[in-house]
Amino acid sequence: MRSVVLAAIMTCLAGAPLYGQGAPGGSSSVRWFKGNTHAHTLNSDGDSTPDDVVRWYREHAYHFLVVTDHNVVTPVDGLNAVFAFENRFLVIPGEEISDVVPSGTSDAPGIPVHVNALGARTAIPPAGGATVAEALRRDVAAVEAAGLPAQINHPNFQWAIAQVDLPPSSRPLLLEIFNGHPQVNNLGGDGSPAAEELWDAWLSAGRKVFGVASDDTHHLKRPWDRRAASPGRGWVVVRAAALSTDAILGALGRGEFYASTGVELSDWQITSKGVSVAVAARPVDATRFRIEFIGKGGRLLRRTDGPTGSYEFAGDEGYVRVRVTDSNGQRAWTQPAFLADAPKP
Ligand SMILES: [Zn+2]
Ligand SMILES: [Zn+2]
Repeated sequence: MRSVVLAAIMTCLAGAPLYGQGAPGGSSSVRWFKGNTHAHTLNSDGDSTPDDVVRWYREHAYHFLVVTDHNVVTPVDGLNAVFAFENRFLVIPGEEISDVVPSGTSDAPGIPVHVNALGARTAIPPAGGATVAEALRRDVAAVEAAGLPAQINHPNFQWAIAQVDLPPSSRPLLLEIFNGHPQVNNLGGDGSPAAEELWDAWLSAGRKVFGVASDDTHHLKRPWDRRAASPGRGWVVVRAAALSTDAILGALGRGEFYASTGVELSDWQITSKGVSVAVAARPVDATRFRIEFIGKGGRLLRRTDGPTGSYEFAGDEGYVRVRVTDSNGQRAWTQPAFLADAPKP
């Protein structure tokens, strides 16, 4: 086996569950916080007030919510005065920079390019561009110039982003590999890659990109409607020392989190030797789990059945990430462990 250098996160956690009761992580000094990084209110095209949207997440055992209205910043100080509580709940400001690129045909709408500025306290205007690639590059640059993490949203919405290269960046980017809005084509089609395949393509090109699952909440008032963008479909679980805006945004920017549509992890470890995960399964549910270890090019490195799995690095994988799928179709995705050949002497 070749020696390897673990180029990025080294993470270790134990104790089930990773979150809950406001004190995840047990005696550890770090905790795990469940949150959603993408939600709209009446201040853009959501159907509910900021108060109602935040209340939904507070009452459904989330620890934080980033409010990301289109091209405006919804103030959060008043919301936090009502809803925040130490290490229990926090509202983080944000914006979905919602750019439009000319489609080139007069009868077709513009092409949407949407990038979340997580933590934005003042609105960052869409930078525009003649092409999707140009608008994406300029919008990401504007978010980074503000010192904030940039989250590239729903790459297959109107099939806008998946065919372009990842823009340059000075820090790791976030990419929505799952978005709960029913019109965003997470799984790709007709030659366009799934959002998760796009993630592998960008990782395989040597970029450090972290995968996010989010709600893109628009609708609280139509829970029976399959075309509604209702809350509770996708989230992240973030490892941080405390529930503060700086700690959460910092951990997101370092990849100290996993994404989920329902599978909860009780353990996720990256060491110099390999990666392992364990699912917080409830035996009474009799749910079954498939754990897949995925490397460069989206290559399946190993598959195990059951609530626990581990993988030992060979050294040539490029990166190793974990996807857990349960027998009801719910998933969790860890961030990649980045491998590189040891420097030559
Ligand atoms: Zn959007
Ligand atoms: Zn949105």
